[in-house]
Amino acid sequence: MRMSLRKRVLVTGGAGFLGSHLCERLLEKGHEVICVDNFFTGTRENVVHLIGRPHFELMRHDVTFPLYIEVDEIYNLACPASPIHYQYDPVQTTKTSVHGAINMLGLAKRTRARILQASTSEVYGDPEVHPQVESYWGKVNPIGPRACYDEGKRCAETLFFDYHRQHALQIKVARIFNTYGPRMHPNDGRVVSNFIMQALRGAPITLYGEGLQTRSFCYVDDLVEGLIRLMESPADFTGPVNLGNPDEFTIRALAEQIIALTGSVSTLSYQPLPQDDPRQRQPDITLARSALGWHPGMALAQGLPKTIAYFRALMSEGLA
Ligand code: NAD
Ligand code: UDP
Repeated sequence: MRMSLRKRVLVTGGAGFLGSHLCERLLEKGHEVICVDNFFTGTRENVVHLIGRPHFELMRHDVTFPLYIEVDEIYNLACPASPIHYQYDPVQTTKTSVHGAINMLGLAKRTRARILQASTSEVYGDPEVHPQVESYWGKVNPIGPRACYDEGKRCAETLFFDYHRQHALQIKVARIFNTYGPRMHPNDGRVVSNFIMQALRGAPITLYGEGLQTRSFCYVDDLVEGLIRLMESPADFTGPVNLGNPDEFTIRALAEQIIALTGSVSTLSYQPLPQDDPRQRQPDITLARSALGWHPGMALAQGLPKTIAYFRALMSEGLA
């Protein structure tokens, strides 16, 4: 038996955008971190500053295959998250969500580790309930181009709750809403990264549809704080719990804000709206407030300049 109070924490998808920030924070808290990633959308660059630290280990591994290590806690983040990345190989996306969940739940069962699933607001699909509460079951097209991600994540939630009921596993399910910040992939096609890159290049800003659909954007540091609070919450609190920033914006308003903050000469270019694009999205975070004492502290107007600075630096280093 290990006598140290230091926990061995596995972060799958740890070389990705959210995962790399999470690894950093867990190390700061004094834990031992094992970062597992197959580098599909994540990069070693995201965690290069952590390599060589005595309590950090980077392991190339695909979660669709079983993993035999000893751990106390698992954050299961492995999954491409942006529509162009998860639609690139949709079968693999479903496998990553479903087989990945089964493998990581199996690991948790063997080691009796506590396990957290990075689920998503996409389980609500194109929602009829606004803002979205955890008790809402969602409106998802099961056969559309977003289904590999949405249904994969829904099935992963099912598996988490069945392992909890059947094998008494300690589970935590976070439904993450749109999150942004440094280390987003510059070419992932997500709206914040796309608009900032287009604005910095002076290229047209591609607004899908009329840009009247809404999203609510959470800064990465706030989100990571929420994930850690959820993992540390009492054993009988499983979630699902929404984690996101309730401040809601139209996509057009986001474009205008980014143009203003970058001082860009870019103009707005209206493009066709992708199939099944949700029209509105805003988290109800009443549960996160009461159960975790959590709420986001960073407004979009504060978080965007930090993100813009990151992408400017990438461009000046020739990395974007
Ligand atoms: P990301 O693409 O930057 O990170 C995902 C990571 O998982 C990458 O490093 C990728 O290489 C890795 N990965 C993918 N398939 C894998 C596999 N089979 N085996 C091992 N590693 C694999 O995306 P992100 O934004 O950091 O998202 C992290 C998690 O949070 C995802 O599960 C995503 O669904 C969830 N999430 C993110 C958001 C958001 O706005 N960023 C919103 C909702 C949910
Ligand atoms: N979007 C857009 N232009 C872009 C990229 C995205 O208008 O260049 C829109 C997209 O149609 C969606 C919203 O921005 O309505 C958020 O898209 P993203 O891919 O970031 O996330 P998700 O749709 O998964 O919330």
